[in-house]
Parts: sequence; structure tokens; C-alpha cells
Amino acid sequence: MDTEHCDVAICGAGPAGLAAATVLERAGLRVRLLDENIQPGGQLLRHTAKRASGGVDRARRRGLRMLDQRTAKERQRPSPQRVIGIFPDREILAADAGEHVIRLKPRAVILATGARERYLPFAGWTLPGVMGAGAAQILVKTHGVLPARRLVAAGAGPLIYAAAADTATAGGRVAAVLDQAGWQDQWRLALALCRRPAKMLEGAAYIIRLQLRGCRMRCGWRVRSAEGRGRLEQVVVSRSDAQGFPTGAAMTIAADGLAIGWGLVANLDLASQAGCRLAHDARLGGWVVDTDQDLATSVPGIYAAGEVTGIGGGAKALVEGELAALGVLTYLGGSLGRQAEARRRRLNRLRRGELALGRALADASRVPPGVLSGIPDDTVICRCEDVTMGEIRQAVFTGADSLLSLKRTLRLGMGICQGRTCGPIVADVLALLTRGPHVPEPPWGTRAPIKPVTLEALAGGPET
Ligand SMILES: Cc1cc2nc3c(=O)[nH]c(=O)nc-3n(C[C@H](O)[C@H](O)[C@H](O)COP(=O)(O)OP(=O)(O)OC[C@H]3O[C@@H](n4cnc5c(N)ncnc54)[C@H](O)[C@@H]3O)c2cc1C
Repeated sequence: MDTEHCDVAICGAGPAGLAAATVLERAGLRVRLLDENIQPGGQLLRHTAKRASGGVDRARRRGLRMLDQRTAKERQRPSPQRVIGIFPDREILAADAGEHVIRLKPRAVILATGARERYLPFAGWTLPGVMGAGAAQILVKTHGVLPARRLVAAGAGPLIYAAAADTATAGGRVAAVLDQAGWQDQWRLALALCRRPAKMLEGAAYIIRLQLRGCRMRCGWRVRSAEGRGRLEQVVVSRSDAQGFPTGAAMTIAADGLAIGWGLVANLDLASQAGCRLAHDARLGGWVVDTDQDLATSVPGIYAAGEVTGIGGGAKALVEGELAALGVLTYLGGSLGRQAEARRRRLNRLRRGELALGRALADASRVPPGVLSGIPDDTVICRCEDVTMGEIRQAVFTGADSLLSLKRTLRLGMGICQGRTCGPIVADVLALLTRGPHVPEPPWGTRAPIKPVTLEALAGGPET
């Protein structure tokens, strides 16, 4: 296996990773930017990477400029590189699409691995046609495929509006957008957005686009079940109270696609493998990497930036990428000039504003207890290992009181996705069932390889 030395390895080439790389390369450091996607840009920029830079928000425009500044050679890397493990002394293993594994020995690491969707089960959520709102968005914007002929978007938070509006713009029919958050939550969000006119306009544009295309918009409504023979045919919905409990009569909406969104959760696999301390902040998406002001984690030489430190959006990721890079420069012995110190202070101020926005958006995507406690017993929670809600309730009833004991008893999270989908659900359900403190347990720890890789590649290539 080849070993490469570099100054800084950045895991994740989304807005945070790109911003960090730009600063560090300008300072003359040897940077290795690793991402499992073919195109750099992360969740925010991958759809826009091919577009002209006009007509998109400020964070995207800045991100696109950074993408443009990277050399054409680097942007068209022959193969994506997924980081499969991080070990003591910051040693990193990464595999490319050709199953060639490299070992990296950087002097410092920035973890910028972003976030993924939060899933919440309900009766029928495993039917074909039911998908995450982010997945629906990727189908439309990256692959040019409509997620459904007639879509319903539901859950809470901005992603459901974005997915619905993108589908409508691409020519799909959106029957309804159902937001669990009631009018009071919407007003609170609107007030918070008053200071961010660009975000406010983005949200308003989604709503206008949807209304012009005849989409029904409802606040304080939720999905009760998805139904169909072999695939989704209709969605059963009803009003719900602020705690997520259904109120009023159920009604059905015919649909062959249901996009569900409940906000995002940070991708913590690498951070927890590296031994970085985690912290819980319900208003920033739950468990996140704990950092100091310079975005240094609890492990010397490892920094974190972007959604991994708290769900806050693209602008926060850009600010934090730059801040983490300045932190790394100091860590590696460089002294920042007066200008860079002033920039650091300004970035810290900007970061506080972005965190406030993140908290306001998280409040609007809050998961109320009724949504979790109403999951029927026969609903599958861990789709890899086929574990139902009833089995989890039974295991808790007979004494399983931690994530680890549930994993040992039921094989939860031991399948191919390694608990990425069911982990946050089970943590929330466990906190609810044990009526413990309202802080769910930290996610299950992970071991290398965190992404699938062949044994041959791990062993260092074919035998000669
Ligand atoms: C599904 C989804 C849809 C979204 N839609 C919108 C939207 O419509 N509008 C909006 O404003 N914001 C949206 N967001 C939020 C926005 O994408 C983020 O705020 C922003 O991209 C954060 O930047 P980041 O650099 O922290 O993370 P990301 O942009 O998520 O970048 C993280 C990168 O790390 C890479 N990575 C992770 N683990 C590994 C590994 N082990 N090895 C190699 N690479 C790895 C990923 O491939 C990814 O490219 C969405 C987020 C998600 C998850």
C-alpha cells in the first residue's frame, strides 16, 4: 500500500472543505482534498456545479467561484476517494473507485464530512415511491429524473419545500406539501429570517412557485401512513397538534411519490472513529463534533468544519472552512499576520450569525414526540436487519436500556448501512421509551472500514 505525506488532509469537498482548501493552498501548504463523490462541491454545490454562477444565493455563488478556481485537472479527478478509516496519529486510509487503497500521513486533518437526511418511520415508509426529500432533490437536480408523476412532500423544515419546488419546476406535479410545524412555528421562523432577506426570498420563491402550480400547502399536518399494493398509491394524512399527535379525521391523497424530510443529522463516523469528543445540541441537529473557537476538536491536529459541527447551512460551512484553515495554520506553527487575525475575528462574528440561523431552521424541523410514539409495532425500523418497532419496544420492556444493548439483542444497525439510517431513529425512540433525559445517547461508534471496500484492496492490492 502506498503511503503519501502531505500537510493537511481534508475529508469532504463540500463548501466547508473547499473553503479550507482554498486558504491552505494559498498559504503554500500541500493539501489533499478527499471526497467520495465524483464531483467536488458537496450537497450544496453539486447540482449547481455545471450552471452559470448567476441566479443562485450568495453562499452558492462563493462556493462556485472556489470550484472554478481549482484547476480543471483536480475537478475532473479520475476517481472519487472515500475515506474508510482514520487511526491514531492522524493516519488516514482512503479507497478509490478502482479499489486502490492509499495511506495518508498528514500533519493535520480537517473533518468536513457534512450531514445526511434524518428519516422517521411510519406505516408504509418502506414502500417503493417513499423517499427522503433530499433524495427526491438529487433525482431532479443531478440526474434530471422526476421522483414521481404526482408527489406529496411532508415532514418539517426547509428541505421539503426545496424538494417540492424543484420537482414542480422540472415539470412534476406536486399534489401537496404538508408541514408538521404549525403557523406559530412558521411565524417564528419568518421573524428569524427577517435579518436574512436572501434566505427569506429563497423560501418565498419556493412557496410562490408551488402555489402557482396548484400545490396544496398545509401547516400543522402530517403523514399517518403510506399505502399501496407493491408501491405507493396513496398517502393518508391528517391535522396534528404541536406535539405531533394526529387530530381530526384522516384523508387520503393519491400519489406515486412521497418525499419525507425531517432536517439533517451530522455525519460523525470519522470524527467518532478519530476519538473526537461529541456534544449534543438539539437546536443544531443533535450530536455534533465539539470544537473550540478555532474549530479544533478534542484530538490534537484534527479540526472540524461545516455541518459536522452543527447543522447550519452553506454559508456557515464556508465561514467554518476558512476558520478551520486559519486554526490549522496556527497549529502547524505559522503565525497569522494582523490581517489574518482581523479576518479570524470577523469570521467568528459571522459564524455566530449563521449559528443563530441554523437554530431557527432547526426549530422549524423539530421532531415532536407524537411522531415517534405513534409508530405502529409492525413498522420496520432497521431496514437492513428487518427489526420492527414492536421488537424494539419488547426489548426495552425486558431490560435493554442502551443503544449498545439494543444492538446486541436485535442486531440493529449491523447491516450494510451500519446504522446510518436507523441509528438516530433508535436513539430518539429509546430516549422516549425510557423516559430518560431528553438527550438521546450518542450514535453507535464505528470501526474501519466505514465504507465498503474489498479485502484485496485492504491487503494492499493483488498478490504478485
Ligand atoms: C440531502 C441534502 C439536501 C440539501 N439540500 C439543500 C438545499 O436545497 N439548499 C440548501 O441551501 N442546502 C441544502 N442542504 C444543506 C447543504 O448541503 C449544506 O448546508 C452544505 O452543503 C454544508 O456543507 P458541508 O461542506 O458542511 O457539507 P457537504 O456539502 O455535505 O459536504 C460533505 C462532503 O463530504 C463527503 N464525505 C462524507 N463522508 C466522506 C467519506 N467518508 N469519504 C469521502 N468523502 C466523504 C461527501 O461526499 C460530501 O461531498 C442539503 C443537505 C443535504 C444532506
